[in-house]
Amino acid sequence: MREKVVIIGSGPAGWTAAIYAARANLQPLVFEGDPHSNVNREQGTLPLGQLNLTTEVENFPAWPYVDASVLKLFSQSALPPDQFALLEPYYEDKHGSGKRSALGPELMMYMRQQAANFGTRIVSEDIVNVDLQQRPFVLRSHAEQTIETLSLIIATGARANYLGLPSEDKYKNNGVSACAVCDGALPRFRNKPLAVIGGGDSAVEEGTYLSKFASTVYLVHRRDQLRASKIMQARALENPKIAPKWNRVLEEVLGNDEDGVTGVRLGSTVDKQTETLEVGGVFLAIGHTPNTNFLDGQLQLDDKGYVLWTKPARTNTSVEGVFAAGDVADSYYRQAVTAAGTGCMAAIDVERWLSEHGHS
Ligand code: NAP
Repeated sequence: MREKVVIIGSGPAGWTAAIYAARANLQPLVFEGDPHSNVNREQGTLPLGQLNLTTEVENFPAWPYVDASVLKLFSQSALPPDQFALLEPYYEDKHGSGKRSALGPELMMYMRQQAANFGTRIVSEDIVNVDLQQRPFVLRSHAEQTIETLSLIIATGARANYLGLPSEDKYKNNGVSACAVCDGALPRFRNKPLAVIGGGDSAVEEGTYLSKFASTVYLVHRRDQLRASKIMQARALENPKIAPKWNRVLEEVLGNDEDGVTGVRLGSTVDKQTETLEVGGVFLAIGHTPNTNFLDGQLQLDDKGYVLWTKPARTNTSVEGVFAAGDVADSYYRQAVTAAGTGCMAAIDVERWLSEHGHS
């Protein structure tokens, strides 16, 4: 069957594009990614995107603080039982009660459901390659499904970076992680000093989150000023459990096969000093890389490797009929709300493009 529009990716951009495309009667097909793939787990490219790896989202409009028990009831009412079951652990007491904003995983499940409510079809597989030279475009999934589509929205987002140190690689999943929210509550990290590397919003957010479990969180940053937003900086720097390590870089993760990570050796960016800290875990929060490998060079990218939007204030790419939305095409704003916004734009751009080309 020939699709009118396929959307690859399942973060805020992908689901918003799906909501708009479905309401425009385009019967969108979303490839949300494989939730069971080890590669996705290791790379941090599991379905529902980066927001699904985060805690409270305080800056997505329309989510003021509300009692957690109300959010539980809301989830129960909005989602089918199998999807609600995936959120149920977040309503256990250990995640705190009282008033809060919606969590990243809650928002993502609500967005997915909203798209499904309007008839979006969802496939839980990865697209592994695309042929954008042919018309219709040809997509192949990991399970070797072949799909033909008249138009395409790329919304595959970006994944967390690692430094590339051999010792970091050696202790991945044994004390080294790029996702505090996924791994931070594991027993191995409890009541131990931990290190977070980076100085952006992710680093301070991860540090703040880990401070609930850790004895101390060393925030290791290569400069003496954080990049993170002022409100999140203040929250982190006022936290007595967070100890900044200014002008420091991670040189080596220390450990052994039995215990995994036991420490870090830090270098200095201002002199030749090194410092060794005992830590039970290292969390990398040093930015992201766009998920574009499957495109195999068929779309023009910018100098940082993000998909290039080729028309001002539009989501067109270098191939007619292919549009891009969200973090895969945005190295500048990279917010959930801007990703959702460009997802909406991509669906409207697709609708107009299809109609201009006689496919409405
Ligand atoms: P980011 O803003 O790009 O920050 C990356 C941090 O890592 C920077 O402090 C950078 O140092 C440091 N870094 C990069 N490469 C490094 C290296 N090789 N060695 C040591 N340090 C390195 O990335 P992010 O924190 O993941 O945030 C990405 C986007 O998501 C941002 O737009 C952010 O606002 C957004 N975000 C928002 C929230 C929220 O609002 N709740 C939460 C998380 C993320 P320099 O500062 O020296 O460049």
